[in-house]
Amino acid sequence: MGAVTPLAIFKRTPGTNCGQCGRPTCLAFSVAVSTTGADPAGCPYIDLAGLDLGAAVIAGEDPSRERDLALVAHLQEKISDLDFAAIAGVLGAVWEGGAPEVLIFSYLGQAARLAKTGIFIDGVAPEDPRDAILLYNYVHSGGGRPPDHTWVGMESLPNSISKVRTLATYCEQRLARLFAGKTPATIMALGQPLEARPGSGTASVELIVPVLPMVPQYVLFWDEEPADGFEARVKILFDQHVLDFLDIESLLFAAERMAERFECISVAR
Ligand code: SF4
Repeated sequence: MGAVTPLAIFKRTPGTNCGQCGRPTCLAFSVAVSTTGADPAGCPYIDLAGLDLGAAVIAGEDPSRERDLALVAHLQEKISDLDFAAIAGVLGAVWEGGAPEVLIFSYLGQAARLAKTGIFIDGVAPEDPRDAILLYNYVHSGGGRPPDHTWVGMESLPNSISKVRTLATYCEQRLARLFAGKTPATIMALGQPLEARPGSGTASVELIVPVLPMVPQYVLFWDEEPADGFEARVKILFDQHVLDFLDIESLLFAAERMAERFECISVAR
């Protein structure tokens, strides 16, 4: 098999994560069917009517989304044995017992509820699987040294040379364009929904944004000075221990998401 995508299988399951197929989630089951040839009949509820299991990948489905969904399923399996109650504190989360048990924490000013079978952000399942990847990676880290507010640039983190430009493109330059010409009060107000607090220094505006409870990001903004030929500039700093909580790819995505949140808040005003 392997020609039908995980998403095509997943759409035919009820999405109830009942576990009767021996997998923790419908997504994990779908990935197993698609990639390892597991028997789709392992789910008693699946609707296979009209599905050609030998068909080519269904047209119109995004391969990168398929990869991301497979990674979400992989991470769900990796965290399936974690003791949520034990790690909640070090992640800055609140543990809620029950079936399923849940970790509750803030994600860019939104309420994330993370279970081993799925995630809700402000009550809605995230449309983009990269949010789930980011949050599952955070939980999978199991935590580490808490932030001590010793701030470093991306270039100071290990194995980050190729990431500096990505951070500039997807976060720093976007925020510089957004903030340019705005008053410090206006920029601070944009940070309020993100629970940002002011930093202290000599830049035009400095904000500390708690992207995740243990992953603050420090935003330094210098406004444009056309008379001197200076363009607006943003520099993002991270706590020196940030890689105890996120891998570098997830950290980049967290910075990108922060920029998007600022843009959305600005448009909504
Ligand atoms: S048996 Fe079906 S519904 Fe239940 S978790 Fe597995 S795929 Fe989902």
